[in-house]
Amino acid sequence: MATNFDFLRQTTFSDDDIARMLRLKAPEDVKRLQERAYELTTDLLGDEVYLRGLIEISNICTANCRYCGIRKSNHAVSRYTLPRHVVIGCALAAARAGYGSIAIQAGERTDRHWVEWISGLLREIHERTVSDTLPLGLGITLSLGEQPYEVYAEWAEASGNPDGLRYLLRIETSNPELFHKLHCTPGRHEKNLEHRMTALRNLRRAGYQVGTGVMIGLPGQTVEDLVQDIRTFQTIDADMIGMGPYLLSKGADMVDCGMMAHDPLLRLSLNMIAATRLVLRDVNIAAATALETLEPNGRILGIMSGCNVVMPNITPQATRSSYQLYDNKSGTEVGAESNTKIESDIVRIAGRRLGLNQLGSSIHWQSRR
Ligand code: SAH
Ligand code: SF4
Repeated sequence: MATNFDFLRQTTFSDDDIARMLRLKAPEDVKRLQERAYELTTDLLGDEVYLRGLIEISNICTANCRYCGIRKSNHAVSRYTLPRHVVIGCALAAARAGYGSIAIQAGERTDRHWVEWISGLLREIHERTVSDTLPLGLGITLSLGEQPYEVYAEWAEASGNPDGLRYLLRIETSNPELFHKLHCTPGRHEKNLEHRMTALRNLRRAGYQVGTGVMIGLPGQTVEDLVQDIRTFQTIDADMIGMGPYLLSKGADMVDCGMMAHDPLLRLSLNMIAATRLVLRDVNIAAATALETLEPNGRILGIMSGCNVVMPNITPQATRSSYQLYDNKSGTEVGAESNTKIESDIVRIAGRRLGLNQLGSSIHWQSRR
């Protein structure tokens, strides 16, 4: 009997509809879902894919998230912070190459020295990237973990570009018990989901386009959890989503829990991206590096499933191996200039165009504003 896929054309979805999308398995069914997500992306957002040049500025972290290879207690990692002139060099190269926007990511640190160092960096990047092609300067996405409101506000001010200001802070999972298991060991209660939700509200209050996301295929995570993750993105009223598969890290604290096998994990990740597109509609969705690590064509498949943002790694090669959030992290790209060639090929194969020299803010955010 032919399966009826008319429900994919709805504009609102029940929890059962979303669970049904996530559970699709037969290749032809999965393809129908992806095609609908791709079509909706084109209808609502056009055919451009935006670039965020990812700079992993430091792997020093004061947190101990159990899934993460650069958590504080992993003493096998050699720690680095890129010198300021190196970060500025990456940012300028990204601006020259037409990226329009960069993402600055690091472990979590809340000390005053770090906060001020970031503020100074943001000021300099802004001052040096305002040009005729980028009249507002480079767009900036920060991914620097949980911070107090005052810090978010200070960085927002320092960035100098309220139109291109974003923050990516994943909830990791919307299931409080699973969140607890991912972050806490006996006697050590490091993080809780309520704080994370407060941080996300503070980001909105401080003027950021708010990005969040989850890891897909976490040990102990159910399809119902993923449905609730999408509902939580709605509650947060997220402007952008960055999510990818959970991948095992030997330096993390969850080796014994294992990870999903390649094929079902890839399928679930792409189903989750497509379902998020259908439910959240006009938000930006980034194809994560973890997807590319799981599958060499991950970024293309992500775009085919509804992603409209890619985040090529433009961190200098020398420190890449020390920023292993998970094992075998993809990092074959070379530098900002040559990346645009790679990215434009990827995007072309997926039937899209690169949105060069654009901030690429989400339509969702623009409409709210
Ligand atoms: N310290 C910041 C930014 C760096 S970590 C923060 O935590 O927000 C960025 C993201 O990497 C995390 O949100 C998490 O979802 C992802 N990550 C960490 N370990 C991972 C793993 N083993 N597999 C997949 N993603 C992982
Ligand atoms: Fe640190 Fe982020 Fe890794 Fe948690 S996920 S240990 S905050 S780098």
